[in-house]
Amino acid sequence: MARADSFDLGGLHLHSGEGRRLELEVEQEPLELAGTRYEPAPQRLPVRLDVSRTTGGGYALRLRARATLAGPCMRCLEPATPAIEVDAREIEVPGGGEELDSPYVVGELLDLRAWVHDAVALVATAQVLCAPDCPGLCPVCAVALASAGPEHHHEREPDPRWAKLRELELD
Ligand SMILES: [Zn+2]
Ligand SMILES: [Zn+2]
Repeated sequence: MARADSFDLGGLHLHSGEGRRLELEVEQEPLELAGTRYEPAPQRLPVRLDVSRTTGGGYALRLRARATLAGPCMRCLEPATPAIEVDAREIEVPGGGEELDSPYVVGELLDLRAWVHDAVALVATAQVLCAPDCPGLCPVCAVALASAGPEHHHEREPDPRWAKLRELELD
């Protein structure tokens, strides 16, 4: 499979209304989400790129890929490796104004690496969880409830300082 961190759209020589589907590989960079580093996998990500030539000498682009991320769960901080489904679109029409001006296309060169990075980050912002229904942390003792199990509960406040703290928060 062709490795393509940037891709020359002009090289496809498409006429208006024509399209092409490409299977490419893109190098992934580590992601930083909410101050935490996440490692994407695989490092060379297979992507499907649909390129259509629009009227006015522009391009309509669709990017699809399936990546995984490894890092702490956003709710309970346990290790998580969620699947990230990317399905993103860009439109680039020269002189078409801000809405038709893709930040990833300069001239006829598509910065596929930057697009993949941003598209994965966008999906991941809401999705780095150890399980889709991760229950998060116990509000009393801050243990991860997913690993503590359903039996985990407290008879009463374990430490009077917590109760004190809660009173203060209510004020
Ligand atoms: Zn979790
Ligand atoms: Zn607890």
